[in-house]
Amino acid sequence: MGITEADLRWWLSGYNPNNIMIGVVASHSALQILHGAKKEGFKTLGIAVGADKRRLYSAFPGSEPDEWLMLDDYQDLKNQEDWLKKKNVVIIPHGSLVEYLGADTFSKLEVPTFGNREILRWESSREKQRIWLEDAGCTTPKVIRDPRDIDSPVIVKYAGAKGGRGYFIARDYRDFRRNVNLDHEFTIQEYVLGCRYYLHFFFDPLAEDGYQVHGIKSHAGRNLGRLELMSMDRRDESNVDEFYKLGSLRDLREMSLEPSFVVTGNMPVVLRESLLPEAFRLAEGVVAHSFELEEGARGMIGAFCLETIVTDKLEFRVFEISARIVAGSNPFVSGSSYSDINESGMSTGRRIARCIKKAIETSELDRILS
Ligand code: AMP
Repeated sequence: MGITEADLRWWLSGYNPNNIMIGVVASHSALQILHGAKKEGFKTLGIAVGADKRRLYSAFPGSEPDEWLMLDDYQDLKNQEDWLKKKNVVIIPHGSLVEYLGADTFSKLEVPTFGNREILRWESSREKQRIWLEDAGCTTPKVIRDPRDIDSPVIVKYAGAKGGRGYFIARDYRDFRRNVNLDHEFTIQEYVLGCRYYLHFFFDPLAEDGYQVHGIKSHAGRNLGRLELMSMDRRDESNVDEFYKLGSLRDLREMSLEPSFVVTGNMPVVLRESLLPEAFRLAEGVVAHSFELEEGARGMIGAFCLETIVTDKLEFRVFEISARIVAGSNPFVSGSSYSDINESGMSTGRRIARCIKKAIETSELDRILS
């Protein structure tokens, strides 16, 4: 059994709302999160394994945490739950925290965390994601169940592969057979040709103005909260992004080279404005459906990212969703072309801190934490 809303309320009853400390594992998007938390006036805690991390953060005084919790192993976080609660810590989860702890341990961590932990269960299964995205009105890349049906380029993704490592492209069944490692679980997806855009949204269930998400089914007719577009990036992926320099795919095969999709960095992008209504339609559908994922679902809270490819027909294919802050928001520590329109200097990390700050003011922390 995971953390219940009653557990959360019980922990919060022992918290001093005027002394909340933002805690984050020093990796992934932590520089941005700590910077944003400091800007919003919070005390901050860095959590790390190894002195190197701590030293690295001394290179960025604007993000250096007020305190450190140094561990021998990230699993030891489980033994620090009482200490963290005594310190009024709210943990901001990101991809590395979930990876280091494991989704199961993270879901049971007895410390208040920002966002809805339950939703990360949906995010961590490709099949569940697909159901959620398609119900929400997103077109996802076609899945090929039987490799013998491959009749156009596909991308083969191994379960649990991190950062695109080990993915491969196959043009036909023979190609697939030649490359596949049958010891691992995999999904075969249609390879969508187009430009990648990673759309960083923020859903604030406490805000009653702005672009309101309309509830469906169990929440029909209700305004659920405000949807904001924070920023957009495109990932640098090694080595696929530089592959073209060596010639055609055939030339590359002759050199026994296969593309890989390992993320090494991120670049800011903007969408042509005429695509924004569709981007919002997709994100609104995803949020509205997050409240229908199961009986009594708490829905999306905070940052999420739609990973998309826009084809030359100007159609979006959504190939993945992250229901938390993504590292692609890191280029925007001092704001983006979108967030700056509303308030200059607003990063996703800072927006999280702002959301917590507002919830403290209105005594609604239990609505944005889990
Ligand atoms: P993912 O692990 O699903 O985020 O995918 C890693 C990378 O693989 C993406 O950033 C894309 O460059 C590429 N990719 C994933 N799915 C597709 C697809 N269906 N078609 C084309 N490229 C894809």
